[in-house]
Amino acid sequence: VFVCFEGGEGSGKSTQSLLLRDALVAEGYAVRLTFEPGDTAVGKEVRRIVLSPETGDLDDRTEALLYAADKAEHVETVVLPALARGEVVITDRYVDSALAYQGVGRGLDAAELERVARWATGDLRPHLTVVLDLAPEAGLGRFDERDRIEGESLEFHQRVRQAFLDLAAADPDHYLVLDARSGVAAIAAAVRERVAPLLGQ
Ligand code: C5P
Repeated sequence: VFVCFEGGEGSGKSTQSLLLRDALVAEGYAVRLTFEPGDTAVGKEVRRIVLSPETGDLDDRTEALLYAADKAEHVETVVLPALARGEVVITDRYVDSALAYQGVGRGLDAAELERVARWATGDLRPHLTVVLDLAPEAGLGRFDERDRIEGESLEFHQRVRQAFLDLAAADPDHYLVLDARSGVAAIAAAVRERVAPLLGQ
């Protein structure tokens, strides 16, 4: 079973992916919690390049291909092996982040970008994507220091937010959209409930 958390900055993806992991481990499931970009040796380098303010301007396609490289390495060396071992894989960000940030955010062609992402991941799709929806004004306020992307305009982050909502609306069977302002425990419970049938519960 493969579950993704998606959403804007400060929406609580890391907290919720940890809580889901802990809940499933407590029930005896083997779980691999992971994230993009950066959960492989190559990915760490990619993350440093794409997020460091010192990188300065990056061509949009260069940025998209760097994220795609992170994704290819991540799927091949982390996600697929864990799924093959029968583990539940929970990832903090996946393909939808590319479609939202590099596609709608940067304005790269959606169909082309989707082809790149599908190629990079061998078209591995999650069983469920949880979108934690939050107004960027609220999410960005949670950070003191901003990375290269967090420093983008509010309008950029508003487009990204809408992109996640549009992806979810187009495929409701594979998405759960939750208001990130709900309590941490309430969100965790809603996620757990939606994951249950995926585990045959
Ligand atoms: O989720 P996390 O905070 O680790 O994400 C790191 C940064 O990478 C965020 O600022 C996010 O906006 C950015 N990102 C991106 N495009 C992606 C994935 C992440 O701009 N495809």
